Amino acid sequence: MKKFKFYKSLKFRIFFWMLLIGILPGMAFRAGILKTYENKAVSNRRIDILSQAKILGTQIVTYDYLNNTSLDVINAQLELLSNIYDGRVLLINSNFVIVKDTYNLDAGKAIISEEVVKSFKGEEISKYDSQNRYIEMTIPLTDSKTEEILGVLLVSVSTDSIEANYEYLKDNALVIVVACGIVAAALAMLLSQRLVRPLGRIPKSIDEVQTGEGEEALSISDYTETEAISRAFNEMIKRMQVIDQSRQEFVSNVSHELKTPLTSMKVLADSLLGQGEVPVELYKEFMTDIAEEIERENKIINDLLSLVKMDKSAGNLNIEAVNINELLELILKRVKPIAQKQNIELVMESFRPVTAEIDEVKLTLALTNLVENAIKYNKEEGWVHVSLNADHKYFFVRVEDSGIGIPEEDLEHIYERFYRADKSHSREIGGTGLGLAITRSAILMHRGAIKAHSKVGEGTIFTVRIPLNYIA
Ligand code: ADP
Repeated sequence: MKKFKFYKSLKFRIFFWMLLIGILPGMAFRAGILKTYENKAVSNRRIDILSQAKILGTQIVTYDYLNNTSLDVINAQLELLSNIYDGRVLLINSNFVIVKDTYNLDAGKAIISEEVVKSFKGEEISKYDSQNRYIEMTIPLTDSKTEEILGVLLVSVSTDSIEANYEYLKDNALVIVVACGIVAAALAMLLSQRLVRPLGRIPKSIDEVQTGEGEEALSISDYTETEAISRAFNEMIKRMQVIDQSRQEFVSNVSHELKTPLTSMKVLADSLLGQGEVPVELYKEFMTDIAEEIERENKIINDLLSLVKMDKSAGNLNIEAVNINELLELILKRVKPIAQKQNIELVMESFRPVTAEIDEVKLTLALTNLVENAIKYNKEEGWVHVSLNADHKYFFVRVEDSGIGIPEEDLEHIYERFYRADKSHSREIGGTGLGLAITRSAILMHRGAIKAHSKVGEGTIFTVRIPLNYIA
């Protein structure tokens, strides 16, 4: 397991690739140089032998050596040629009979090889057998006057000396390649450790930031990449801190909101219990107050449950095509009794029939909250206008009231959980501070938007925009 991990490490990869880059060119260079040397040496040897053989050939023809092989001058030269190049020279006459063999083995024998036949037709043939390490050449001997081919010179020489040099070079080059490899390995080891070190510091620094032991933020500025990682990490930590803080605030708000009705109930109950003889009227009055507080506690819990449901089921909407005109009519019908109690006129205006793909339960809750607020934060004898319109992409619901309005500085906060612009009024009329948070969540789940305009003392307008077709 440990070995496997090592192979996967960046340190090993850098080491491996650097080593390869260090060694491969040396090896390729070695192979290339050796091949070039061999080719060049063989070609030089051919040229040498050819020129020597040609000179000799001219002399053979001139002295008519083919018919008189006892000529010492030529014999000496033939011996010299075969000695220098560690080879054998055969002289063949037009009857394909070997008239001279420097090895003195085959003189007098006939030879009809492909090369010899070709040479009698005028071709100069040269052949390199790298396996058996020799060069064989057949050269026609031509009478310069008659252009007649009188004989063929067959020279075969060993390339052992070339091979010996080749082997020597090969060994030397290997030493150089190995030396380069060792240097490359050492450098690769050093560099891989150096290059990876800043990355190795990241987990430790992250641990320190998390436990609060080291610096407050991650800062590894060795490379642009580690700087980017540090920046991204710090931003993530900041975002998490904000989330954590808002979570804590929410928990403390919830506790506070839930405790308030309980405290009231406790005070009411204690004061009843503390008195000896309590008149029935007082009992009734206190019990009514207690029932109201229970009602309030119930409302807060219900709203909290709605909010949690909105958060949880973000991808879990129950979408269907709904007639929005009817949906709004129904909402208005339900809240009508509350409006009538405060003598508030409730008017609905539909500019066109609208059908949209929505989650009926969630959107009803959202719009009911807006209309209820418009009634709750209104004046005696005030009015609430609800209108519905649409274009090709969205439908728009406008809820306008003649109420108390929302101060400018509160407008951006009204969607926050438990936020109340007018604290005493909200509490008095039984608000939980959660209504608009629920409304906004539901609208955002439908990929919609909500906006509020308000003037203190004159009234408020909420505009909701929702796509006609649900966008997943
Ligand atoms: P609440 O339960 O207190 O009504 P909401 O979240 O519904 O909570 O509203 C937040 C606050 O915004 C309210 O306490 C109130 O101060 C203000 N508000 C909301 N709607 C209106 C409105 N139509 N007119 C005036 N103030 C409003």
